[in-house]
Amino acid sequence: MTKKDSLHANSVVVYWHDDILAHNTGSGVFEDVPSPLLAFQEPHPENPTRILNIKSVLEKGPVSEHLLWKVGRHATESELLLFHTKTHLENVRSGDLSGPVRLDGAGTVVGPGSWNAALAAAGTGVVAMQDILDQQARIGYVLVRPPGHHAQPDLADGSCLFNNIGVAVNHALAQGLKRIAVIDWDQHHGNGTQEGFYDDDRVLTISLHMPHGSWGTNHPQSGAIEEVGRGHGTGCNMNIPLPYGAGDAAYSDAFRQVVIPVIDDFEPELIVIACGFDSNQFDPNGRSLVTMSGFNRLCQQSRALAEKHCDGRLLLFQEGGYAVTYTAFCAHAAMEGCLGRGSTLKDPAAYYDQPAPGDTRSPRDILDMWRQEVARSRKKYCGN
Ligand SMILES: [Zn+2]
Repeated sequence: MTKKDSLHANSVVVYWHDDILAHNTGSGVFEDVPSPLLAFQEPHPENPTRILNIKSVLEKGPVSEHLLWKVGRHATESELLLFHTKTHLENVRSGDLSGPVRLDGAGTVVGPGSWNAALAAAGTGVVAMQDILDQQARIGYVLVRPPGHHAQPDLADGSCLFNNIGVAVNHALAQGLKRIAVIDWDQHHGNGTQEGFYDDDRVLTISLHMPHGSWGTNHPQSGAIEEVGRGHGTGCNMNIPLPYGAGDAAYSDAFRQVVIPVIDDFEPELIVIACGFDSNQFDPNGRSLVTMSGFNRLCQQSRALAEKHCDGRLLLFQEGGYAVTYTAFCAHAAMEGCLGRGSTLKDPAAYYDQPAPGDTRSPRDILDMWRQEVARSRKKYCGN
């Protein structure tokens, strides 16, 4: 096997840029503004620490020998304009100069350093995409912040300034690709990516998410099943809202029973993953109870899909994930899944197993079982 073959088959190229750390989101009540009622505020959940911890576990964990690190670059204005409006660029830039401000009136903070960080995140995604197109990498992981999947062409939203995936996908389309699938398993609906490609039959967007619905004027999309695309893009957007507490089995089953058949029909030339880890079992911003094992499985399923349709080309973008320590272990499990193997690190927080897939007891069943148990106990101890 040549060195190039080895790199392709058994490695993930991780794309990084130090400027992503300059984006300072401050502190408050989780992602909300500080409260004068509190003695101590907490850091905004979208902060450098979570990304630095991912980097640390990937550099020190057993998967490290299979990772190749590459430094990205800032996006150019013309690259950003592949997805965003000029007005949106100016809004982000002016926030950097005058901030901190909250561009969506909620948790999306922009201040000094944010512009360079957002440029680095988007540009590093373009570098990764170009490497995939040039066959310099087969599997890539863009480890950047701020995240991107809520950013719409002319709106910042949900801690996202530029849609890193949207910019990179449009870069690939401009290079001649005809069909790209974006699978988003971040805990939240990938509304920005959906919006950017809603009329486009070249890009299939699929989002698995908790059913949080719309939130505020910067997030009008609902994430409902009924949002299927528009015009030529009809049938090229799929939303898969999963119930709160869905867990590993529900995500894997949704992937197997829903995502895979739709991807098989679309036959993409490239699969892009909006890889949020905020569906993990300890995330303060999620409710879905996915474990390291669950993310590992999703990545193994994605790799298999990429091998089936795309000569193995698979590009992951870091999105959410706010449990400062556990997220990093999920990322390690994900990278091993991308390599086609199980997770070798012990789950540091697996306090309880996932519910058995066959356990379908309803609340009524539990009530009946409890009554039977009480009757048995009474007979044993009281004789009646
Ligand atoms: Zn999220």
